[in-house]
Amino acid sequence: MSRVVSVEEDYGKPLSPERLDEMVQRVGGWALLNGVQKKITATEFPERLEPMPFTLFPSILPGDVLRKTRGLQTAFQTVIYKVANDHEFMKECLKGLLNVDDFTKQLWTIYETVRGEGITQEISLVLTRNDFMMEYRNDNDVTQDCKQVEFNTFASGAGGVISSMTDVHRYSLTLEDIPFNSEQLPDNHPTAGLADGMVKAWRLYKNQKSVILYIVGIPEPNTPDQRWLERDIFQIDRSVKVIYRTFPQLIRQVTLGENKELLVDGMEVAVVYYRYGYSPKHYPTDAEFKLRLDIERSRAIKCPTVAFHLAGCKKIQQVLAEPGVLERFIKGTDVINDLRSTFVGLYKLDTADSDEIISQALQTPEKYVLKPQREGGGNNLFGTELKEYLEKIKDSPERSSWILMDRIRAARHRNRLIRVGLGPECRDVVSEIGIFGVHISTSTTELENFECGYLLRTKPEIANEGGLFSGHSCLDSPFLV
Ligand code: ADP
Ligand code: MG
Repeated sequence: MSRVVSVEEDYGKPLSPERLDEMVQRVGGWALLNGVQKKITATEFPERLEPMPFTLFPSILPGDVLRKTRGLQTAFQTVIYKVANDHEFMKECLKGLLNVDDFTKQLWTIYETVRGEGITQEISLVLTRNDFMMEYRNDNDVTQDCKQVEFNTFASGAGGVISSMTDVHRYSLTLEDIPFNSEQLPDNHPTAGLADGMVKAWRLYKNQKSVILYIVGIPEPNTPDQRWLERDIFQIDRSVKVIYRTFPQLIRQVTLGENKELLVDGMEVAVVYYRYGYSPKHYPTDAEFKLRLDIERSRAIKCPTVAFHLAGCKKIQQVLAEPGVLERFIKGTDVINDLRSTFVGLYKLDTADSDEIISQALQTPEKYVLKPQREGGGNNLFGTELKEYLEKIKDSPERSSWILMDRIRAARHRNRLIRVGLGPECRDVVSEIGIFGVHISTSTTELENFECGYLLRTKPEIANEGGLFSGHSCLDSPFLV
């Protein structure tokens, strides 16, 4: 195996410009046909759809990387479950940022309020995605290691639209006569597992007439991705009804019943699935926080609860990487070593002893990423921006609301990215793999804990962030070697 590898260049033949045009059209058409779609209108009907950005061919990935990342999912979920239920630990981790990060403080207030009132619904559902990038083990090695980027507990998307990328890539390889077998390009259908988790939670609520509420945005480019999940629920059990609502609609429509049932337009909600509500921008007034509080105190099963939302903070990730901390949450030296082997350096910025790491980051900003407690992409700082911002906050209390992370030197390979704003030429790219999982629990028991597939996405090597719905990265499939 050489280090810079591509399915097209190593196994296929060069594409002429005419053939490339034809391939882009045909494979793009196949992607649309198979539900690899995003919505490009707001609320209008008929809605307009276009294919999600995708790679023309699958990307080579060592099989042991996929096995390892998938194999760690249930242990990671157990750790996050235990964190979400460890009040003292969460308080200790987050206390330093509550005075400087208003959004985290608002979430914390909701968490404490409901905790004080007494929990009405003891069951929690969380659909997770654990993101990793691949790194070469060292400069001369061809083998790869996987390094954790972050663990998502809120609105972990793309499990639907990735679900037929395997078919799309089987098609593109076949068009080009590139041979493969099904072990090299395995089936991958995360929403089947995610839907299974949702239906299990719905059944635990024990009301046949109750519905699953999807909280979505306007405009909502992810509608097709959400619809995949609805479709898989429909295939498991047609009696489970899904409703879609935005925050403004819910502010008008939500009431709590006598036993704190969550009622939307009179319908009782069994499971609330947040695909929105992770950014301060989603809460322009107090009414949105009041809504979040009402939902949290209701009897509905939340996916996720505010506790799980907070447990997914980057600050928690940083503390989990400190020596001895994983041991508080999970037993077994091997599993702890395996989890820890995926961590890169993570550094707090909240104490006097952060001065050394701050001066290192100012000298070599290209080696770090500066991250706030935010989700959804576009919030992290790299390179010159990191340096300028860190200069600005280094002597102010605001620095406690950020963490520094070693920049992962992602393994470079080559592919064609088919998306607006980029030519389809074969280019140097890097990939990120996200592992999906389902976890259902009470504060004392893990009821379900399983892994259910993966998302591979690929972006130009020179790009910093790799948001899918922001159009930066492209849906991909692993071609296992
Ligand atoms: P968000 O919660 O906003 O998605 P992430 O931590 O997932 O934030 O980072 C967003 C993107 O930035 C990632 O998908 C990845 O492409 C890039 N990124 C994040 N952390 C690192 C890192 N340590 N090294 C290299 N790239 C990173
Ligand atoms: Mg992320």
